[in-house]
Order: sequence, then C-alpha cells, then structure tokens
Amino acid sequence: MSEKNDFYTTRDSGAPAGSNEHSLTVGAAGPIVLHDHYLIEQMAQFNRERIPERQPHAKGSGAFGTFETTEDISEYTCAALFQPGVKTEMVARFSTVAGERGSPDTWRDPRGFSLKFYTSEGNYDMVGNNTPVFFVKDPMKFQHFIRSQKRRADNNLRDHDMQWDFWTLSPESAHQVTWLMGDRGIPKTWRHMNGYSSHTYLWVNAQGVKHWVKYHFISDQGIEYFTQDDADQMAGQDSDYHMRDLFDSIANGDRPSWTLKVQLMPYDDAVSYRFNPFDLTKVWPHSDYPLHVVGKMTLHTNPTDNHAQIEQAAFEPNNVVPGIGFSPDRMLLGRVFSYADAHRARLGVNYKQIPVNAPRNEVHSYSKDGAMRINPVSDPVYAPNSKGGPKAEYPGQPEPQWAADGDIVRSAYVDHPEDDDWGQPGTLVREVMDDAARDRLVDNVVGHLLDGVSEPVLARAFEYWSRIDPDVGARIKAGVTEKAGES
Ligand code: NDP
Repeated sequence: MSEKNDFYTTRDSGAPAGSNEHSLTVGAAGPIVLHDHYLIEQMAQFNRERIPERQPHAKGSGAFGTFETTEDISEYTCAALFQPGVKTEMVARFSTVAGERGSPDTWRDPRGFSLKFYTSEGNYDMVGNNTPVFFVKDPMKFQHFIRSQKRRADNNLRDHDMQWDFWTLSPESAHQVTWLMGDRGIPKTWRHMNGYSSHTYLWVNAQGVKHWVKYHFISDQGIEYFTQDDADQMAGQDSDYHMRDLFDSIANGDRPSWTLKVQLMPYDDAVSYRFNPFDLTKVWPHSDYPLHVVGKMTLHTNPTDNHAQIEQAAFEPNNVVPGIGFSPDRMLLGRVFSYADAHRARLGVNYKQIPVNAPRNEVHSYSKDGAMRINPVSDPVYAPNSKGGPKAEYPGQPEPQWAADGDIVRSAYVDHPEDDDWGQPGTLVREVMDDAARDRLVDNVVGHLLDGVSEPVLARAFEYWSRIDPDVGARIKAGVTEKAGES
C-alpha cells in the first residue's frame, strides 16, 4: 500500500504545492496571507468532503465483481448479460436501511443488496434487499414508513413505539416484520446473506414471449446470522464489522459468490394466480414456481476510493436493458422515479458520468449541460434532425410492457383468492422456522416491545402477532407481561 515514490505534491491544478507543512506567512512569526491559495484549496476542499448521505441505506460498502451466465435461459430473455457464457463486470453495495453512515452494521434491519451490471447494452441495476418481501406495497406509504423507523422530531432518538405504531397500523407489514424479527434480521456478514429482487420484473425473449420473473441471489457461503446478544456485543466491539469483513475477505483472496436463480411465471398466469404476483409483501411459494439457475456473481476487487466508487455509486431500478422490463408492482414503479431523483439531488444531474455509474458501452443521448458535466456534447442537440444525429430505432425487442385499463382511482390492489396479510408470515413461523428459531423470534419480539412500546400500540402489537400465529402471539404477550412485571 505504502510504496515509496518520487512524486512531489501538486495543487489540484497540477502545479507544485510548495509545502505540506508550512503556511505562507509574513515572516516566521507573522500572519498567514490570503494568497496562500494552496492552504485555502486544502481547507475549502476539506470543508466540502462530505456529501449528503443516502436517505435511507446510508451505511454500507461494496466491491466489484463479475457475473457469469452459466445456463441457457435464452428461452426466457434476450437480455445480453443473460446469454449463455456471457461475463459481465459489475459492482455491488450492501447496507443497512435505517441507520446513518456511522451506525453499527449489526443493528436488526433489512440489508440492501444493490447491483449494477455494466452490460454491452447499457447498465442494468437490481436494487434488491436480503429479504424477498417488504413492509409496504404502495409508494404513498414509503416515506412515512422510513420516517417511523428513523428519528423522532423532539429528542432526535429512534423509537420502538413509533416503529410498532406504524407496523401495527399497516398490517401488510406482518410478513416483513416476521422475517426481520427472525434469525435473518441480523446476518452474520454480508457474505452470508441472500439477495432478492423482491419485485417482480418482466422478461421477453427474442420471439416476444413474456414471463414474469423474481430474482434470488443465493449465497454460496451459506446463511449465517447473529443472535440479538451477539449483535449487541458486536455493535460495541466493531460497529463496522460487516464492512471490514467484506473488505478483508476480498483482500485475502476469498471471493464471495452468489448463485442467481429465478422464478419464472408465464405472462398469462398473473391474472388468476392465487396471490397477487405483484404484491411486494408476498412471495411466490417455491412449490408453485421453482427456482431456475442462471449464473454466478463473484466479488473479487475492493474499491480503492470508497467515496468515489461506492458512496457515489448510484443504483437505480429504472436502469433496465433490452429483454427486461417492469411490472405492475406499485413499489417498483414508484422506485423507478424516486431513485434517479435521489441521485440527482445527492450527486447532481450528471451523476451518470461519475466513472462508477458510467456505462461501458457508448452513450448517444440528447442530454446536455447541467452542473459538473464532463462528457462533451456535439451538434445536433435536438431530434428529429437532418444533421446525422442518433436516430436509428433499436433493432431488437422493445422494452416489454403489459396491458392495463380501467378507471383512474385511488384504491388498494384487488385481492386474489388467497391474498391476506397474515397467511404467508404464518407459514414462515409455523412451517419454515424450527422450534429453536421460533423461540428466538419470540425472545427478539419481547425484547423489542419491552424497549419503549406503550399503550395503545402494545395491545395492537399483541393482536398483530396473534393474527400471524395464535401460539406465538400468546407467548409474546405472556413474555412481555411477565418481564414488565419483574421490572
Ligand atoms: P419453502 O419451504 O419452499 O421455502 C422456504 C424458504 O424460506 C427457504 O427456501 C429459505 O429461503 C427461507 N428461509 C429459511 N429460513 C428462514 C428464516 N428463518 N427466515 C426467513 N426465511 C427463511 O416454502 P415456500 O416457498 O412456500 O415459502 C414459505 C415461506 O418461506 C414464505 O411465506 C416466506 O416467508 C419464506 N420464504 C419464501 C421464499 C420464496 O421465494 N418462496 C424466499 C424466502 C423466504 P432461501 O432458499 O431463499 O434461503
């Protein structure tokens, strides 16, 4: 790292700096002069080093890697990166959701699992999580949800009462809350967690045949988790534990990898499927739609400048490529606007020209100007034109779309036959968790509720859990009542 070199220090202009030790003064004991522009450049740059942190997903880090398509799934998508044998360079960022940039990595929280693939047909981003579902299903509620998980206005503290108030008034959160309070709510490392698109996307093949698709990046390291006690201890011992683990693993030559598997639903199945396949609070049970292997993602290269390459990495679900489109999932459609907008606000309108965000293929757009534009534009700056500007229509499949009609309304989704808020979390508690995992779930919820949750929210929390599972609900109520009586 610390190789010696003969470079002399320069100003940002490239000219010699003069000194890294002494300001320019009037005599050795005299005042500093205003024309010490190197000193002023250093102070001014330092004052501007921090950029606004992400809101949410502020704490995180990442690495560069390669995705290789190992299977032939061209029957389902014509996307260039998913053709057999294709290798695509990519960058990944993992994060917590609610904490700020300095917050402990081991707080109980979902983890972001964001990927950017530099494909030959433009950048493709999957802005996923380590969980297959989410707390809400309409973007109208997203801002309120995040505020309820962050800090109060008066004392600037996080507040479990506020969290449970929102959750229990939003029963669609039950699946994600059950998942969060279970073992997977605190992964041991980022290497030991899966990543899910959570959203449903639309794939189209070269003949125009469409399938709905969900992505599952399954950790080749296996799933490992921290108990609440382990995580609390680690938060005090090393608040950057996950960031350190990923960096050190890659530096030591241990290349973490994930196998990409997809669930595929024929386009016409969506109308009559027993669950609304676009509802972000539901999974598609594996028995209905099994997993198909696509390929492998391997992370092998650490960033050399975390700020430039990870903090300024702008993942955006609107980055789709030919062969892949969106779905009627309302949360996805909201995010298709809000992520790019967040990057414009945080990094500036030309954020796609920052090297980590820049596509590796050539860009021929009509965008121009704006703060911090680096790539020069050339005439003609308008279309249509007769001056030789880009005009050819893309010769492959158009971005796949779906049929929709109806009155313009403000309304919940229309339920499919088995849609309800409690069924799938109940399955998770009863059929996926074993006795020991269920015990830990109960302990985690009891501990969380005892930490500041008061009436009427507490009574609603007991009702919420008894609807997920009557036995688990009764145990949580008894645990809180007993421990509250002891204190
Ligand atoms: P399956 O028995 O086929 O799958 C259960 C899945 O649950 C496993 O494959 C694993 O997902 C995941 N899992 C295991 N332990 C835990 C845990 N402690 N917390 C959260 N997830 C865990 O059943 P179904 O497909 O019918 O799903 C049943 C329930 O499993 C769902 O209601 C959902 O809560 C949960 N689940 C389902 C997923 C899906 O896409 N179908 C994905 C993840 C969870 P993995 O193999 O991805 O590690």
